[in-house]
Amino acid sequence: MAKLEIHRVPVLRDNYVWLAHEASSNLTAAVDPAVVDPVLAALDAQGWSLTHILNTYHHHDHTGGNLELKEKTGCTIVGSRSDRERIPGIDVELEDGDTYEFGNATAQVFDVSGHTLGHIAYWFEESDSLFCGDTIFAMGCGRVIEGAFDQMLGSLDRLKALPAATQIYCAHEYTQKNGQFALTVEPDNPDLIARMRDVDAKRAQDIATVPSLMEEEWKTNPFFRADSPHLQETIGLTGASLVEVFTETRKRKDGF
Ligand code: FE
Repeated sequence: MAKLEIHRVPVLRDNYVWLAHEASSNLTAAVDPAVVDPVLAALDAQGWSLTHILNTYHHHDHTGGNLELKEKTGCTIVGSRSDRERIPGIDVELEDGDTYEFGNATAQVFDVSGHTLGHIAYWFEESDSLFCGDTIFAMGCGRVIEGAFDQMLGSLDRLKALPAATQIYCAHEYTQKNGQFALTVEPDNPDLIARMRDVDAKRAQDIATVPSLMEEEWKTNPFFRADSPHLQETIGLTGASLVEVFTETRKRKDGF
């Protein structure tokens, strides 16, 4: 049982790489390292040495630093078995239901396919931390590219069942635009209105809004809220199935 120390590294235009440090074993993982130099600089500044890469899936803005970081540090690369052909340098292959021992910290692994097939998430329960790549964003979710809409909804529902105190470490700062969209489908949601006030204030000062808290997502993320009568009414699908409501909401976001 060990808690992680987690450090945010903003890279590219709007990506976040997360450094997760397990002090009792002196292990440090980079989660979805898009690039190399800013990650190495952040490790240096923290006084941490890279021992692992945890990939959630294969897109280049999540794996672009894999091979060079491995070459420079000898780190072990961990990722999804069903995505193995697309994860550069993968050493350890995980699948749904696995637990991964990161020193004295334990991650539960979920397959959360939808954005892509073989996308996984890592839940470190004792640290209340979820690394979910491009599955959940603050007030949003990943575009459904490779999977099916019902599959993506199933993946989101699974993550949504985690505890209220879970911190969601997603891979992008998309919060403000997501919130602007969320307001188009739930304009009278008071929690959403309040949250957006806070997000707008933070973004005006270039302050990060990630990680976000599960409990906040329950109240404000439209992709967690297909059962909201207000949302259903706004998009003209009162009483429709949750998959229909989710699909219509996701399609509207694609065009937003
Ligand atoms: Fe991404």
